[in-house]
Amino acid sequence: MYGPETLFDYMVEWRRHLHQHPELSFEEKETSAFVSQKLKDLDVFEVYENIGGYGVVAIISNGEGPVLGLRADMDALPITEETPVGYISENEGVMHACGHDAHTAILLGVAHWLKYHKEEIQGTVKLIFQPAEESADEEGETGAMKMIRSSLLQDIEAIFALHMCPWLRAGEIQVNDGPSMANNDEFRITVIGEGAHAGYPHQGADPIWMTTQLLQAIYTITGRRMHPLDVGTISIGKINAGTASNIIPDKVEIHGTMRSYTPHVRYQLEKELLEKAAIVHSLGGHYQWSIQKGEPALINDSELNQVIRKAASASTIYEEPFGMGSEDFSHMTNHLKGAMFFLGCALEKERMLHQPDFDIDEQALREGLDIMTRILQSYWRE
Ligand SMILES: [Zn+2]
Ligand SMILES: [Zn+2]
Repeated sequence: MYGPETLFDYMVEWRRHLHQHPELSFEEKETSAFVSQKLKDLDVFEVYENIGGYGVVAIISNGEGPVLGLRADMDALPITEETPVGYISENEGVMHACGHDAHTAILLGVAHWLKYHKEEIQGTVKLIFQPAEESADEEGETGAMKMIRSSLLQDIEAIFALHMCPWLRAGEIQVNDGPSMANNDEFRITVIGEGAHAGYPHQGADPIWMTTQLLQAIYTITGRRMHPLDVGTISIGKINAGTASNIIPDKVEIHGTMRSYTPHVRYQLEKELLEKAAIVHSLGGHYQWSIQKGEPALINDSELNQVIRKAASASTIYEEPFGMGSEDFSHMTNHLKGAMFFLGCALEKERMLHQPDFDIDEQALREGLDIMTRILQSYWRE
């Protein structure tokens, strides 16, 4: 019914539709409805909606065999799109700048492929369409954390996911055994001093001056306190203070992020950060702090990576960690045997993830479908 070319055309159409109608984390109502309608139309899946928010799980079984999971995320980002494409976002200020539109289109492609290869299936395939990868709710929970609690996911023996990779071309993939994306912990430090007239600084306790000392100490943690072979970084992304050039404020707000690959470095960065914050005591101030633990490091299972390498034998495979970004698929791989690979999608001019000009080479949709379906087939032929 669906030849490879037709299915590719469908994936392009779905991806463009989703791209044009992006929805933020926890608001993926229309996206979820679109996905579940497409799955229901196929008439071969048990379709479960509203799993961990707007998540959708589609299940297909045929005889005895392993329970396999494939996961795609569906949410977009608060970015105003700046691309020349005809299917530019119609939702002002919201954009699929992380390629989740492509992930969803590929998994819908797999769903169609499964319908026409149902007889080949040995066991069960669960397609997991996950909401809210990009941000956490007030409880600090992302979509994967919520979905993983569903009984529908508990019996999955191996779960696979892919992510668009803008530094590789279509036909290239990146895999990595073990820690591959970072522990991601956000912190806030409030340096508290005492306000004063800027002409009489000695009458107050200047928190901006204290902060300049503190920042120097924070930026040397990775270079002086960490083992040189350990991986980790601390960045300050936001500082708020003051109202006018001639008033010394009474506090400075510092917001930053700590990234690491191992529990040991994660703990060390937090400990060092708080020790450095105490510097402000010697300068006449004090501080308050809070840390929000975000995604744990993404740990890829090496056996499943072997399955990916074989399934992608037609691609050029690069072996390297995926960087210091984070990915909430890590919550799934903490509970289930799982692995994610990065799928090349670069255009002529590099377009980075989370940027307003991000775009993909749609040939990546074809590559993603091929690899995902070959992964499934490799379990059935054994
Ligand atoms: Zn992202
Ligand atoms: Zn993403």
